[in-house]
Amino acid sequence: MKRIVIVGAGFAGLAAAKALRHSDAEVFVVDRANHNLFQPLLYQVATTVLSPAQIASPIRELLKNQRNATVFLGEVGGVNKDAKCVYVSNQDQKDIPLRYDILVIATGVTHSYFGHDEFAEFAPGLKGLADALHIRNKVLQAFEQAEAEEDPRRHKDLLTFVLVGAGPTGVELSAALAMLVRSMLKTEFRRIDPAIARVVLVDMAPRVLGTFAAELSEAAAEAWGRSTARARR
Ligand SMILES: Cc1cc2nc3c(=O)[nH]c(=O)nc-3n(C[C@H](O)[C@H](O)[C@H](O)COP(=O)(O)OP(=O)(O)OC[C@H]3O[C@@H](n4cnc5c(N)ncnc54)[C@H](O)[C@@H]3O)c2cc1C
Repeated sequence: MKRIVIVGAGFAGLAAAKALRHSDAEVFVVDRANHNLFQPLLYQVATTVLSPAQIASPIRELLKNQRNATVFLGEVGGVNKDAKCVYVSNQDQKDIPLRYDILVIATGVTHSYFGHDEFAEFAPGLKGLADALHIRNKVLQAFEQAEAEEDPRRHKDLLTFVLVGAGPTGVELSAALAMLVRSMLKTEFRRIDPAIARVVLVDMAPRVLGTFAAELSEAAAEAWGRSTARARR
């Protein structure tokens, strides 16, 4: 029986494992996280609309009915092509060899600062739950700081949120942030004037969603304006 090792249980790894459910192969799925993450909704976690558990499903549960699939929690740190094995480390053990006949590497990608890695210190990416929670905490902390600040002139600085990159994630996140800022400030805080909060979306391209068709960019810009205006009312 052939052994197929799949590293990464994101969209790709999980789809590969499921596609093999009727095969006579032995499938091993290895992921360093115990959950599959629905990344498209990370922005909703970052803006408090959803809780982390709503977009993360245990990999073990997702594959529980697939008898030929075994799930390992661990980080793959290397591949030995000659010995046909990957090395898996977990909390207790380092570099456990896991033999394969066929290897699928589906470890995803990471975000890019487009040559400006120095931004990382100030601006996290949005690829994992930790990033989303970091952004969420920063936003909520800014509200708290402004509420506690006696000098209203400081409120404007504390409540200016700048997002760089008007691709899908930047557009979604900035619109959700604008709605959160305006709705929460209006109802849950006393000393902050919601009208001074600003969400600024910056991009070097002349339009939002620069890689999409021009009419889609226009529709997004219009909807963005509508949703932020509605949130202001
Ligand atoms: C904020 C955001 C919004 C998005 N919105 C959309 C959208 O609206 N529509 C759309 O089609 N796409 C969207 N995407 C893109 C989509 O989520 C990705 O294309 C997709 O998740 C890629 O799937 P993947 O399986 O290649 O990688 P991932 O989903 O990133 O999965 C990789 C997996 O590998 C694991 N892993 C990584 N390294 C190791 C290792 N060394 N050892 C063990 N495990 C490892 C990780 O824990 C993870 O589970 C969005 C992405 C983001 C970040």
